[in-house]
Amino acid sequence: METKQYARVIVDLINDGVDKPFDYLIPAGLREQVRVGSQVIVPFRSGTVKAFVVSLEEKTSVHNPKEVLSVDSSAAGLSPEFIDLTYWVSRYFFSRWIEAIRLCLPPGRDRIKPKYDEVIFPLQTKSFLLEESSRLRKKALRQALILEYVAFAGQEGVSWDNLREKTGAGRQSLTSLVNKGFVRVDKLSQIRVPGDEKLMETDSRPGVILTGQQEKAWQAILKGFEDTQKHFLLYGITGSGKTELYFRAAEKVLSQGRTVLILVPEIALTPVIINQFRGRFAGQFSLLHSSLSPGERYDMWWRVKRGEARIVLGARSAVFAPLDNIGLIVIDEEHENTYKQEEAPRYHTRDVAKKRAVYHEALLLMGSATPSLDSYLKVQKKELKMVEMSERVEGRFLPAVQIVDMRREFQQKNRSIFSRVLLSAIKETLAGGEQVILFLNRRGFAGFQLCRVCGFVIRCPFCSVSLTYHTSPEHLQCHFCGYRSEASQICPECGSPYLRSFGLGTQKVEKEMNMRFPGVEIIRMDSDATAVKGTHFKMWKAFNEKKAQVLIGTQMVAKGLDFPGVTLVGVIAADITLHLPDFRAGERTFQLLSQVAGRAGRGEKKGKVIIQTYTPWHYSIKGAASHDYKGFIAEEAGRRSRLTYPPFSEMLLFCCSSPDEEKARYYAMKLKKRLQAGLSLTGQKAPVPVLSEPFPAPLQKKEGYYRFHIVFKGDQLHRLENEIREIVWNFRKELKKDVRVTVDFNPQMML
Ligand code: ADP
Ligand code: ZN
Ligand code: ZN
Repeated sequence: METKQYARVIVDLINDGVDKPFDYLIPAGLREQVRVGSQVIVPFRSGTVKAFVVSLEEKTSVHNPKEVLSVDSSAAGLSPEFIDLTYWVSRYFFSRWIEAIRLCLPPGRDRIKPKYDEVIFPLQTKSFLLEESSRLRKKALRQALILEYVAFAGQEGVSWDNLREKTGAGRQSLTSLVNKGFVRVDKLSQIRVPGDEKLMETDSRPGVILTGQQEKAWQAILKGFEDTQKHFLLYGITGSGKTELYFRAAEKVLSQGRTVLILVPEIALTPVIINQFRGRFAGQFSLLHSSLSPGERYDMWWRVKRGEARIVLGARSAVFAPLDNIGLIVIDEEHENTYKQEEAPRYHTRDVAKKRAVYHEALLLMGSATPSLDSYLKVQKKELKMVEMSERVEGRFLPAVQIVDMRREFQQKNRSIFSRVLLSAIKETLAGGEQVILFLNRRGFAGFQLCRVCGFVIRCPFCSVSLTYHTSPEHLQCHFCGYRSEASQICPECGSPYLRSFGLGTQKVEKEMNMRFPGVEIIRMDSDATAVKGTHFKMWKAFNEKKAQVLIGTQMVAKGLDFPGVTLVGVIAADITLHLPDFRAGERTFQLLSQVAGRAGRGEKKGKVIIQTYTPWHYSIKGAASHDYKGFIAEEAGRRSRLTYPPFSEMLLFCCSSPDEEKARYYAMKLKKRLQAGLSLTGQKAPVPVLSEPFPAPLQKKEGYYRFHIVFKGDQLHRLENEIREIVWNFRKELKKDVRVTVDFNPQMML
């Protein structure tokens, strides 16, 4: 029998031209060692490069192939599962194979462990650095970004690894900042116990007795261990005790000698569940956490790989944890959009988890109080089995929710950001020594025009999303289809002149609160306030210990936090997410409001929620206020299916960007023409996929890049996968460095 003497490899370079396998001859001396998945060194162009063996072949069509130079037997390499998985990820999510492979390698990727961390400290004041940063933004974006991070980190410093990852900056940018005297670099030996963890206590309560409802749900899930239907959607309202079921399932799987993967939306936002798992499964538990030091991440990864940690908890990227023999994958809060990676490869954790669950014949358990429409539709298609829990544990009630119509407040001459109802509720709560959470999602940017008299928002006639307000020249534009109209001075609905573009931030709320309630301790939690590592946890702890009475925040306060002392939750403006130019805006608003509402009344006392809005009739807001998930989702499904938006269709978002606006526009047009000409659209089964014209992205300029979008919408777009790849990959080869083209399959973010 002929032995396989050719190695088919993917080289470790990110480049469209080399995004395909290359064949190399394996010299006789290496044949024993080179396996599928091995990490090897091969000659490439004029040098050598690291590469991964994706298959062994008996023949090759390459004439005179070069030889594999060496094999690194101590490197992790890729398991057969990961070779298939990464290939699938790269095809399904239109990325390069090597980008997917890199997700499966030990963090740091280099065998030699760094002995120290380089930490960057500021040499100037925060305001100086921020000013300098905005000045540098145009000429030297990377330097500007570094300064911004360093400014916010202050004397805690930021590790260079972390900075490099976040900003994409190279050594040169750092060096020039050092030379200008803005920052200094210190080499610190690695700290192996992460700061956050030292602060946390573990929670090791023994198992509780399941409530009747939990027991029923548990019996249904147990069936999955024998059944072929192993994929579950656990729909349980906030406080219904989903975590307890995750524990049970994990215990069962571990006792069978198999391993467990637990995925959470964001590590920093889920201290409670992490502590519970850590306590319950001490000794075999491992936290894969991107903010650990590089050496520590590396150690953790190998612990998992060697099978020493049999239960792994982590955020999105942990879905690629090197676990073997997986028996259970849990996705907590499955609807969260952090599960989608926004840079290449733009994978969705749910899809990858499902793939792994199928491979390992593992149970997949996705939990949420507000399941995504995507998953809900899969329940109807019988791809997922739904298990429901509709009551809170120990008979606690869902809080009463009151909607306040801000149009009426305005008519009655109250121009403050607080309605009278909310204001008096705050007073009462503070007087009673209880705690208040005020929520305002300001991730939305000022943009849509809203009438303060009647609540009317100007929308696109074709897309049912709000039109975005532009200046110079003043106009309104749809960021889905490009439709343009004049900006209005008066409300088209009621004729009032009180149109205003909406934009309000948490800082404004804080200022108002300080003014109205001098002396009351307030914590503001948003991405500005928590830019420094560990701050979030400290704030969480302080509020939990009642060191402050009021917590003001963005969606950060909505998620996973469990404060028994909170009896009042106020939503300052529910409209902010609602009118984002994104077809998921209604769904997000519902999820967010439901979650915020779930923060109240977790303790003994009954909670109260007040939602301020200019759109009190909207089904997202009404649905959240009446805790009516089913009613909401039916309405949302109807709407999305009528407009054939995902999940009732598939979508590809092409983004063409450049620091030069004209270039970005020009290449977007060009790409559109290529796609139009190259895709065999007419031969497609009806409904034929539709390719939009290029239009400015809602977030038109991001990190110094002007962005243009092209939306491709239709059924089974993967039938065109090869054509699309070919067109885009070839197109990208022609581009200069200052123009980028990305492809996002089923984007979660249309901004
Ligand atoms: P969910 O994740 O569904 O919002 P949790 O899992 O956080 O809900 O549970 C809510 C609270 O109820 C937690 O404090 C949890 O410890 C408690 N709990 C869960 N199950 C039980 C039970 N069977 N008996 C008593 N308390 C329980
Ligand atoms: Zn439109
Ligand atoms: Zn009006």
